[in-house]
Amino acid sequence: MPELPEVQAHADRLAAEFTGRVLTRFVPIKFTALRTAVPAPDAAYGQPLLDVGRRGKYIVFEFESVQFAIHLMQGGRLLVDDKQSAKPRGGQARFVFAEGPALLLTEAGTERRAGVWCLPPDRGLDAPPLDVLGPDADTVSPEQMLELLGRKNQRIHGFLRDQRSIAGLGRRLANEICHRARLSPFAMTGKLGADQASTIVEAIRDTVAEGLASERERDSMSSSKERPSAVHSRTGEPCPVCETEIRAVEYSGYTVAYCPTCQTGGKVLADNTTSKFLK
Ligand SMILES: [Zn+2]
Repeated sequence: MPELPEVQAHADRLAAEFTGRVLTRFVPIKFTALRTAVPAPDAAYGQPLLDVGRRGKYIVFEFESVQFAIHLMQGGRLLVDDKQSAKPRGGQARFVFAEGPALLLTEAGTERRAGVWCLPPDRGLDAPPLDVLGPDADTVSPEQMLELLGRKNQRIHGFLRDQRSIAGLGRRLANEICHRARLSPFAMTGKLGADQASTIVEAIRDTVAEGLASERERDSMSSSKERPSAVHSRTGEPCPVCETEIRAVEYSGYTVAYCPTCQTGGKVLADNTTSKFLK
C-alpha cells in the first residue's frame, strides 16, 4: 500500500498540475466511491482547487466550501483523464474541471476499498474519517513520541502501523524504521525510554526522506517493488548493514522482516501464536 512518501509525492504532482482549476462536477462512477452524504460535493462546484495536501495516507483536495479526502488503499490511483470515457477501466470517481483534463480515481482489483469523503468546511481536517488519526509520523517530536509510546503497551511494529497512534506509515516503513532504529519489531512500546523515542523519530524522518527523494524522481507512483528497502521484501537476502541473512515472521496480511544481528541480538523471532509449538 502507498505510504506517506508515495502519497505525499502523488499529492505534490497533482498540486503542480491541478491547483487553480475550477471544479465543475464530481461524478461517482461506482456508487460506493463517495462515502459521505453531507456536505455534498456540489458545494465546491465553480470553485478553484486551492491546493492538494496530505493527511496520513489520505490525499486532500482543498476547495473553499468542501475538502475531499481520498484514500487510495492498495491499488487506487488518481490519474490524469483526457478521454473521460463513460466506463473507464477500474474507474471509481471523476473530478471534472472547467478546462483541461479530468482526474480519475481508479482502483485495480475488485476490492473497491478506495474512496472519497467530503469534509465540512468548518472542521478543517478534524472531521471523519481523519479525526481518528494520530499526528503525521514525520511531524512527531521526540517528547511527543515518548508520550505516544507510553499510551498502550504493544509491539513497536504494530504501533508504527496503527494510524490512530501515528499516521502515514504502513507495513514497509514499519519494517524499515525498526531496522534503521536497530529495534526488534517485537519490542514493547511501554519499555522504550527517551533515547529510544529519539532514535525512532530520527529513523522515521530518515526513512520518509529517503522514500520521498526516490518517489520525487518519478512521474507517477512507484509500484511496491520499486520502493527503497533494506529489509522489507528482502527475506533471505543479506542485511545491507551487517550481511546477516534477513529473517521474517509471516502474518496473514503482512510480513515482519528484520535483521537478527542489527535488531534482536541474534534471536530469531517467532509469532506468539506458533511459538508454543517450538518449545
Ligand atoms: Zn544487519
